[in-house]
Amino acid sequence: SEFVKEEFSRGMLRSKTVEDILTPLKDCFMLPSSVILDFSTMSEIMQSGYNRVPIYEEERSNIVEILYVKDLALVDPDDCTPMTTITKFYNHPLHYVFNDTKLDAMLEEFKKGNSHMAIVQKVNNEGEGDPFYEVLGLVTLEDVIEEIIKSEILDE
Ligand code: ADP
Repeated sequence: SEFVKEEFSRGMLRSKTVEDILTPLKDCFMLPSSVILDFSTMSEIMQSGYNRVPIYEEERSNIVEILYVKDLALVDPDDCTPMTTITKFYNHPLHYVFNDTKLDAMLEEFKKGNSHMAIVQKVNNEGEGDPFYEVLGLVTLEDVIEEIIKSEILDE
């Protein structure tokens, strides 16, 4: 019944975490903040097909800004605008969540906030040194919804 199906989804949302569904950092389409928005970079961004591109400094785990592809609407590739000119102008907020965040809590966060993407981090205390925040990847509203739909289909 519909009720059973809804309960099944709710249970899944309570037990699964963002770590189970994220897009791993190594698979994320990202660009360094030093990049110039020339024809080649802008084509690469368009061809990636993503709407949001994390921008990092030095290493991929150090995400400093986020570019929305729609921010590029008024950018002329002939001007060779530095990426940071655009990201600093729009200055979209970065949202971080911990790896053990449950999907129901994540869904509520996405519903509340204006951003539908979060950077997933965990406290890494495996090594000898001090614990540090390790970035694992990205999670979006789409990932959570996909999980709900999958669980409903499995239940049928
Ligand atoms: P978009 O709006 O760019 O299509 P969605 O939020 O719909 O992105 O997410 C679709 C899938 O793509 C999700 O699995 C999400 O984790 C992943 N994703 C979103 N942005 C990126 C990116 N820059 N690099 C790699 N994967 C991404």
